[in-house]
Amino acid sequence: MRIPTILLAFLAACGTSKAPVPATESLAFTRVAVVDVEGGRVLPEQTVVVRGNRIVRMGSGPVPARARVVDARGKYMIPGLWDMHTHVELNGAAALLLYAANGVTSIRDMGAHDFARTRAWRDSIAAGLRTGPRMKIAAPIVESPEWLRAVRRMQEREGQPTAWLDQRYGPASAEEAVRWVDSVAALGADHVKVRNYPALEVLRALMSRARERGLPVYAHIHRGLSPAEASAAGMRSFEHGFFPALGGSAAGRDSLFRQLAANGTAIVPTLVTWRGRELTGDALMFALDAASGPNLRYVPPEVSRRWRDEAKTRRYETPQDWSALARADRRNVRELQDAGVVVMVGSDGGAPLVVPGFATHEELALLVAEGGLTPLQALRAATVRPAAFLGMADSLGVVRAGKVADLVLLDANPLEDIRNTRRIAAVVLNGRYLDRAALDRLLAQ
Ligand SMILES: [Zn+2]
Repeated sequence: MRIPTILLAFLAACGTSKAPVPATESLAFTRVAVVDVEGGRVLPEQTVVVRGNRIVRMGSGPVPARARVVDARGKYMIPGLWDMHTHVELNGAAALLLYAANGVTSIRDMGAHDFARTRAWRDSIAAGLRTGPRMKIAAPIVESPEWLRAVRRMQEREGQPTAWLDQRYGPASAEEAVRWVDSVAALGADHVKVRNYPALEVLRALMSRARERGLPVYAHIHRGLSPAEASAAGMRSFEHGFFPALGGSAAGRDSLFRQLAANGTAIVPTLVTWRGRELTGDALMFALDAASGPNLRYVPPEVSRRWRDEAKTRRYETPQDWSALARADRRNVRELQDAGVVVMVGSDGGAPLVVPGFATHEELALLVAEGGLTPLQALRAATVRPAAFLGMADSLGVVRAGKVADLVLLDANPLEDIRNTRRIAAVVLNGRYLDRAALDRLLAQ
């Protein structure tokens, strides 16, 4: 029998690559405790068999004959984590490795400066040509034209770069917004992120076209449209907290939160950003000079330069009682959860002092320590909830036979202490096994 040339070329490529597990061979974790994030329990002594990028079997059966076996006694297996609010391109390509090394196997990216570059990363990761999390990506960020003009003036006054403003979109009319949605849909955006709301009729036109095109719209909460109105208009998620802070009684908030739940509007509180947001410009500059934040050694120089620029322009912000806002945000998390709103983990990696990947774990811990969620609720907020929210629950979000093999192996039980999600022994990224040594190599890069 003759072997087609193309197959020979493929075999040769496999021979020279360092792929640890050929596609035909399976990977078997034995005696592992699987965290069932839906059921809220731990399934002890499981054998989890992965072939290709799928979990093909889970239970107590024998290990396949030709499997690579990982003795996972004493370890806990959770689904790969989602970070639902990233700006990965702001942090450079190395951030993709930071996510992978931290067990963040999927991200919902909220836009940055270069859409084409972000799209190239998404597509090359999906094709297996680059190491990184699976990505959902935003079209260029939508702002109000007035905001764009004001920021441009400010940046020019400070002698700071303005080119990035060309990568934001400030729609001037409803017709133009509709054409823009058509073009970003054709260019391959997965969703639309709105930061500052444009004029109301323009925003409504943009949202209704996005709905026709199947692009969800995610937004900050902003003046011009109350949270209840924005939710009713079809915003699928609110990012960060409520601004201005929600006044009124607990009963009033509860009725708003129940409306959000009924409309299917989720929230991504990004509590971890308060570390950098609560600071005045001077205090932020001091923190950067003193490198007094966790994992700052993973921040590239151009990112820390941008954070310094931001520190300098903070004096232009309208004074706010940021601590009061932060307190309100923390209180809201528990109330949102109780009202049935889908709360999800997002870190806003790219914001000052927020380091990609590591911050996802900090956010998990903050949702418990400050937001009052249980460790199980926090874990769901980074696994099943995002998968279901994005309509990907058939493949992702839980550890079960038939699902995509996005897995994190931990040294301790995260249901006992959520901070155990940081104790990562190994990651399986779309079927690719990365042991601790491989993860450390990613971090070293
Ligand atoms: Zn953001």
